[in-house]
Amino acid sequence: MFSKALYSTWAYYAPDRVLFDCGEGASTFLENRSFAIRKVFLSHGHADHVAGLTGLINIRNNAMGDREKELQIYFPAGNHLISELITYFSRTNRRLRYHLEWVPLGAGDRVPLVGGRQPRHVEVFPTVHAQGEKSLGYNIVERRQRLREAYRGLPQREIVDLVKAGRRDEISELYDQRLVSYGGDSVPLRPGPIQDTEVLLHEATFLADEDRKEYKHATLEEAIEAAVAARVQRKLICFHISSRYRRELARAQKQVAALELPFSITLVPPGQVCELDI
Ligand SMILES: [Zn+2]
Ligand SMILES: [Zn+2]
Repeated sequence: MFSKALYSTWAYYAPDRVLFDCGEGASTFLENRSFAIRKVFLSHGHADHVAGLTGLINIRNNAMGDREKELQIYFPAGNHLISELITYFSRTNRRLRYHLEWVPLGAGDRVPLVGGRQPRHVEVFPTVHAQGEKSLGYNIVERRQRLREAYRGLPQREIVDLVKAGRRDEISELYDQRLVSYGGDSVPLRPGPIQDTEVLLHEATFLADEDRKEYKHATLEEAIEAAVAARVQRKLICFHISSRYRRELARAQKQVAALELPFSITLVPPGQVCELDI
């Protein structure tokens, strides 16, 4: 991930080959891995989240790699900045070797992923950004199987016997586990759509509340509050941090590490590509 407020934000999730937002420099850093991307999910149309598309679309056409591999770019339906971009790209890239598809999305939509062992999809949720700027957040969701509550106390041997007796469907149930939630640079996320997620990527432009002049973006404190309310299970990753805090980051990281919370907190240093290990 790279994220610096006003300049550029992008995050590549390798297991599902998904890129969240495409700020300036995404393909420059990812180089050949740009060809690994299957789908791009844009949170909104501001320059710091879309300026890298020019490079990515071009590199997939010209660099060494599978130049025929299709690419889908998902975006909030009705976002006028992105509509203008689509017009620009369709006029300036008439002869792409690959199929480039722009797909408008709305809250509640689902996009299937071709993932690992368990079926996965992206779940789309609403976010609130600046006025008139349509924005969305995205969850990567995995469909899993677990024992029904009534059977959870049974010894392993009895469960095996039940499965052998062909009663697997009776004792187990399917459920959806949110793995990763990405909310773009909106105001604090509401807990509902990201409830129980394992990893939350939440914006935290401001480390100090007094630096925020109007109700836009979020503070570090709000990001933590949002994660607590959503009962995040493993990790909160705070990004979109303003570069004015570069020198204070180590101290802030120490302070949040001292909080006793059920999840860890990572601050993405503004101006540095960061491997997140999630
Ligand atoms: Zn923005
Ligand atoms: Zn931004």
